[in-house]
Amino acid sequence: MPKKWRLTDRTRTLLTLELAITLPAAALMAFSILNLKHIQRDQAIEAAIQRDFGYVLKIAEKKSWVKANDLLAPVRKEFPNSGDSAKVKAELEQLLAKHPEFAYVGYYDKASGPFVSALQPGRRQDAIFCAHALDDIKMIEQWFPLESPDMVAHLRMMEQQDEPPIGFYGGWTLKDNVRNYWNVAYFLPPELPKDRVAIGLVSFDEDYLRKNFFPTVIKDTLTSKSSVLRSDANPPAMMIHPTKDPNPWVASSNWDGGKPEVERNFGDVLGQGFVAGIKYPGTTIADIGSRFLRYNYTVLGALSLLMIGGILLTYRNISREMKLARLKSDFVANVSHELRTPLALIRLYAETLELGRLKEKEKYQEYFRIIREESERLTALINNILDFSRIEAGRKEYEFKETNLAELVRSTLDSYRFQIEQNGFAFEENISSDIPPVVVDREAIARSLLNLVNNALKYSKERKYIGVSLYRANGSVALEVRDRGIGIAPAEQEKIFEKFYRCGDPLVHNIKGSGLGLSLVRHIARAHGGDVSVESAPEKGSTFIIVLPLDASLRAGAALA
Ligand code: ADP
Repeated sequence: MPKKWRLTDRTRTLLTLELAITLPAAALMAFSILNLKHIQRDQAIEAAIQRDFGYVLKIAEKKSWVKANDLLAPVRKEFPNSGDSAKVKAELEQLLAKHPEFAYVGYYDKASGPFVSALQPGRRQDAIFCAHALDDIKMIEQWFPLESPDMVAHLRMMEQQDEPPIGFYGGWTLKDNVRNYWNVAYFLPPELPKDRVAIGLVSFDEDYLRKNFFPTVIKDTLTSKSSVLRSDANPPAMMIHPTKDPNPWVASSNWDGGKPEVERNFGDVLGQGFVAGIKYPGTTIADIGSRFLRYNYTVLGALSLLMIGGILLTYRNISREMKLARLKSDFVANVSHELRTPLALIRLYAETLELGRLKEKEKYQEYFRIIREESERLTALINNILDFSRIEAGRKEYEFKETNLAELVRSTLDSYRFQIEQNGFAFEENISSDIPPVVVDREAIARSLLNLVNNALKYSKERKYIGVSLYRANGSVALEVRDRGIGIAPAEQEKIFEKFYRCGDPLVHNIKGSGLGLSLVRHIARAHGGDVSVESAPEKGSTFIIVLPLDASLRAGAALA
């Protein structure tokens, strides 16, 4: 016959250990390794993003530089290079009319005299604009006569070095909490003989820079075919802010505030006043990092909880298994003892009888009684063990029949009465006359009663009393067994119904028992839709009550369950 495969306690424990500790630990390790890779990859990505962003900003700077030069080129060509002040001024105004991108222009010739300037005719109505421009011009008028020889020398040198001969000055002024940008681009007027010192100057209109020049630079940069920008699902956002103020002065339409990821100072472009910044809208690399960390911690926390749970579970499982193993070995020792004693007695008395040496007739009677009692004890014990093993294997079946419970209790006690009284017990029996027929398994109920009576016999010392009552109690019948024995400590009153459990009292351990009786009683009571309970006080005595419902449907439901 093929052996049915079943989990042994050992394999179950090992399996639990495996599932509870090894698996989460392995998962944790795998996760950490993955994490490391992830972090490495993340750092690489971060570095790449930084590099690409830096590159994009460099392009933006270059574009600004080229654009400024392109705007200056035609003006430089058309610039006056000689003449009296009135003529120069007229030429300058003409020039400005053609180039609305400039706020004002100026011309200074060391030989012929004063600094000549003109304001953008398109902005003459704008009082604030004019005030700023005139302020700037006043300042320039003061330092140009002094600085012009050096400036000219510098520009000539640049020319020789094939650089565009253009110089820039510029920066921010803060007046009444308003930041204003000022700038001048200076250059040599066209075809200026080597021996003359003259300088042309233009200033880019601040409004033009903010509304046209930089927005175009940003747009051109962001739409250029640089690799980082082309492949991005979330295109980066760019802005330009003054060196001393982190708030954007000009920004791309997708700029959503916050700190730029990478910044670049535009250096000399338009006179040192601008910093460009770039980032991904909606998030920062630090955000991505902290989200990643949060995610990691959550997973780690969950895994740790899983592990702690697993360890607790294993601990519970193992200690339960160990307790059960101890109980089982106690059980085996108890049962073999319990089997051996009645067998030895039966053999002893049977041998004595066999020899036929007994004189008195009463002796024969006594020996026969002992043999009967001992064999009854054996039967009860074996029945308990058999019942128990059937229950454990889930094969216990009950034969429910309508039964006269009063009659059943009476006849069960009758066969035991002699033994009870022989042991010197006062016996009291109260059976109500109003017990209706109840659907029960006769044998199981009789066995429960015997177990309870037997316990009362075993666990009583000097005060030998056993009382049995059967009565109706709201929709149920109660079968009660009372004694005045050693009693049960409150802490043990629930445990005594567990299989193999025997009280810790050393007194109990001198009394034979298997620890099965009460667990069987409970199983039987519950199979009938009822239950068993105990009221007890140490040294006072115990009362066990089996309650069985009169309603058979309850019993049927319980039996199915
Ligand atoms: P046992 O074979 O040990 O009697 P039971 O399951 O019948 O097993 O009882 C479990 C334990 O409950 C007993 O070992 C004993 O400690 C305690 N017990 C049961 N009945 C009584 C009682 N009437 N008085 C005191 N203790 C009892």
